[in-house]
Amino acid sequence: MGSIYDKLNFSMHNPPQFLYIEITPECNLRCKQCHHWMLKESDNSLKTEDKLNLIRQFHKMNKNGEVVLTGGETMSKIDEFFALTSLCRSLNLKSAANTNATYISEEIVEKTLVQGPGAFVISLDSHLEHIHDYIRGVITHPINGWLDGCEPSQRRPISFS
Ligand code: SF4
Repeated sequence: MGSIYDKLNFSMHNPPQFLYIEITPECNLRCKQCHHWMLKESDNSLKTEDKLNLIRQFHKMNKNGEVVLTGGETMSKIDEFFALTSLCRSLNLKSAANTNATYISEEIVEKTLVQGPGAFVISLDSHLEHIHDYIRGVITHPINGWLDGCEPSQRRPISFS
């Protein structure tokens, strides 16, 4: 049986540049503009091992490609999250992940530096905490909460665009 990429008719001469993997459709926030938090993951969803195999197949096609982890909230399945990013690192594949940053703690920051993705895309709805939380539907303490997860010596600059 061929790989999913054979079925999609990609070839070694025309490989996909990105592989997007949804870790879970579920999310712990309640954003007003989003429906993800109403979703439940299906029993038929790909399992961690299936996703690891997809990454291995993707790597065979394009060693310069990039794996993007999406959700829902990617870090709500933290074991799967780090299993996938660790594999990307071991294969020397670029990786990035979307997150609402609510699971970030000192322990997660330390693990991320060693096993995590090369880049995070963190969503922030306002520089004013109460507006961000109003849109998110949950009190999240953005920015200060993210920084509270890090000792001052471990903090890295965060740039927003
Ligand atoms: S954090 Fe993202 S996935 Fe979660 S409810 Fe908000 S917009 Fe949707």
